[in-house]
Amino acid sequence: MSNMFRISQYNHFQPYTDGYHLAYNARSGAVALMTEENFASYRELVDRITSGTISDLTPEEEKLLQQLEYGRFIYPDDYDELEALKFQHHLSRFEQSQIGFTLAPTMACNMACGYCFEENKRGRMPAKVIEGFIDFVEKRAPGLLRVDINWYGGEPLLAMGIIEDITETLLDLGQQHNFLYTASMISNGYLLSRETVDRLAELKISMIQVTLDGPARLHNAKRPLKNGGDSFDRIVENISYASTKMAIGVRVNIDKSFNKNIIEEMLEELKRADLQDRVGVYFGQLEASATVCANISESCYNANEFSAIEVEYYRLLLDHGFRIERLPSPTSAYCIAQQINGFLLDPDGDLYRCFNHAGDKSKTMGNIRDSINYRHQNFMRLFRFDPFDDESCRNCSILPICLGGCPARRADRGMTGDEMCESWKHNLRPMLEIIARSKQLQAAMTAKEQ
Ligand code: SF4
Ligand code: SF4
Repeated sequence: MSNMFRISQYNHFQPYTDGYHLAYNARSGAVALMTEENFASYRELVDRITSGTISDLTPEEEKLLQQLEYGRFIYPDDYDELEALKFQHHLSRFEQSQIGFTLAPTMACNMACGYCFEENKRGRMPAKVIEGFIDFVEKRAPGLLRVDINWYGGEPLLAMGIIEDITETLLDLGQQHNFLYTASMISNGYLLSRETVDRLAELKISMIQVTLDGPARLHNAKRPLKNGGDSFDRIVENISYASTKMAIGVRVNIDKSFNKNIIEEMLEELKRADLQDRVGVYFGQLEASATVCANISESCYNANEFSAIEVEYYRLLLDHGFRIERLPSPTSAYCIAQQINGFLLDPDGDLYRCFNHAGDKSKTMGNIRDSINYRHQNFMRLFRFDPFDDESCRNCSILPICLGGCPARRADRGMTGDEMCESWKHNLRPMLEIIARSKQLQAAMTAKEQ
């Protein structure tokens, strides 16, 4: 075994309160709070590692070295950190023991959001498509360890019967073939009655993401029901109960029409419903992702602008007592587009490689009833980019959490360089501080409750 070490390319340090430093490694996801003393010892160790003079360590230094190795801040010099990450990513790309499907049982929706490209879509998944999908899973079931389903639409709750039928069949198959079944949902939240939530919990849905586009007055204008009615109050009431049964993520789509006052107004409304430590609020960058959405592009932030705004808004969440759930977590693939066994299935049985392509027939890579054609250009277009072939990504200090970013941004919108980078690239350090404060507050609250 080697006694020599190398310093990880993925270390990040940020001064914290009272002389403490935050240490974070993007490969392991480890976050540590270091005292001034420990931080000084770390720097000294780094110097000694770099100059190859690491011997005669004191017991304290030995201990620190072990902790640093455990958190992957340093690693033995016979280990290649980048190659190991690349190997893990490629394994994940070609993983056959897992299947991930985003299923749209219907494209119909009960809302009429101004920016939604799915506005006039209809259609429920017919029996022959459901059979085709079950057949697809069943054929692969003997080798499967895991099946992940994300219900999507349109509004998936308009097709509750289909969700029930497919889930029950998959749960049976999982029992027969011993694979794990997990499920989540993206819903507008309006139909999440108590009865429905109870049923969804039985159907193993462990996480639901809903969207709120600001406080009631703005949300109701941007996300009206099809009949013109308001949706905010009902959604808030629904997620209040749902949060007792499953994790609830509240996505707020941010564009230039938002400001701090608007966010605070929304947070006050959520606090009135006592949701501050029961839901995870996070901010999504509204992007003009398709030509039909080009008319909103002027109101959208670019990646740099968004990452600065994001920090301000997360700070507001913290100040208002909300949990911070956006974490810089290492991953093995950015999304389904980087994995051969990840698909989006529309009600016609057509398969896609990206959420934003649902229902756009020019982007399909085939139908669930036919065999998968991995040579299809709509498969390759998003799959082919490999972050390990890109020099900026190879040298990037957050590669393990970004892995080259959203493939559709490159392939569909021709984005390159900095524009591609996850907002972590620009705001990781201030975000680490916010996350650490949130964790400390949570820990203090838990200690108080006990
Ligand atoms: S390609 Fe981009 S937009 Fe499409 S699913 Fe992946 S991350 Fe989302
Ligand atoms: S896209 Fe940017 S942030 Fe992501 S891995 Fe590449 S260089 Fe890093």
